[in-house]
Amino acid sequence: MESLIERAASDLVKSSYAIALTGAGISTESGIPDFRGPSGVWTRNPEAERKAYRSYENFLTDPRAYWEERLSGTAPFATLFREVERAQPNPGHLALAEMEGLGILKCVITQNVDGLHRKAGSANLLEYHGCSFKLRCASCGIRFDREEYDLEELRVKGELPPRCRRCGGVVKSDTVSFGEPIPSDVAQQSQEEAGRCDLMLICGTSAVVYPFAQLPHVARQQQGATIVEVNAEPTPLTQGGISDYLIQGRTGEILPRIAEEVRKRLPG
Ligand code: NAD
Repeated sequence: MESLIERAASDLVKSSYAIALTGAGISTESGIPDFRGPSGVWTRNPEAERKAYRSYENFLTDPRAYWEERLSGTAPFATLFREVERAQPNPGHLALAEMEGLGILKCVITQNVDGLHRKAGSANLLEYHGCSFKLRCASCGIRFDREEYDLEELRVKGELPPRCRRCGGVVKSDTVSFGEPIPSDVAQQSQEEAGRCDLMLICGTSAVVYPFAQLPHVARQQQGATIVEVNAEPTPLTQGGISDYLIQGRTGEILPRIAEEVRKRLPG
């Protein structure tokens, strides 16, 4: 494995525009379960998956009921969101932020909604599936910090769903539900980043959720990018020959070792 870590560091230092893609696996070492890993939320409870698929439809048909369910703590992701509130970045998140600080990584695109990359210090960050600490207007797309709304007060006064302060549209959580289109701003920027990079470091994702899982294919097709995976197990990208190599193991252990090797290779 050491030689693959050194190879990744050397590829990163040689690259001119490297970006990282991350998924739920990078946050399991912060205590947030993933969905499809061996002890994932859905691996253990397939009914939660079926319920989650109905959430966006519920929002569209009855946004008040959607909000009441979320605030009651019985929504499909209630447990996940409680873990997210308490979680802190782990060495994997910190290593990516460090490599951005060194000028090696230019952007992180994450599927995670836990805000841990931002807490770790990643600055050029695209949250593909939104952020659980934010709300978003379903009409005009503007985002708000969750604290800007007193959701409990709106519930008590019977004034749910929250309304957008700019256009009056219905506000939902910023997190992208199943069946909901990816917000156009983040979808477009992610497509551009993937099309521009010559190295993509993919960390802790099963790479089966589309359209996110399309981004490595874009990188491969547009610039012939080198694709490096760091994951606990092989994925369709490994099996389909889309990634050049897989460094198999925990992101919280491997990414800091890659960052250390990168530092050694930089001048000064
Ligand atoms: P996934 O659950 O489908 O796959 C996670 C992958 O990471 C698996 O292959 C697993 O083996 C691997 N993994 C787990 N722990 C690891 C570790 N410590 N080191 C290396 N690899 C590890 O996750 P996904 O591909 O991101 O798709 C799930 C969807 O659910 C995403 O869209 C995401 O938005 C959402 N989600 C987010 C969070 C979060 O914000 N932390 C948590 C669960 C799910």
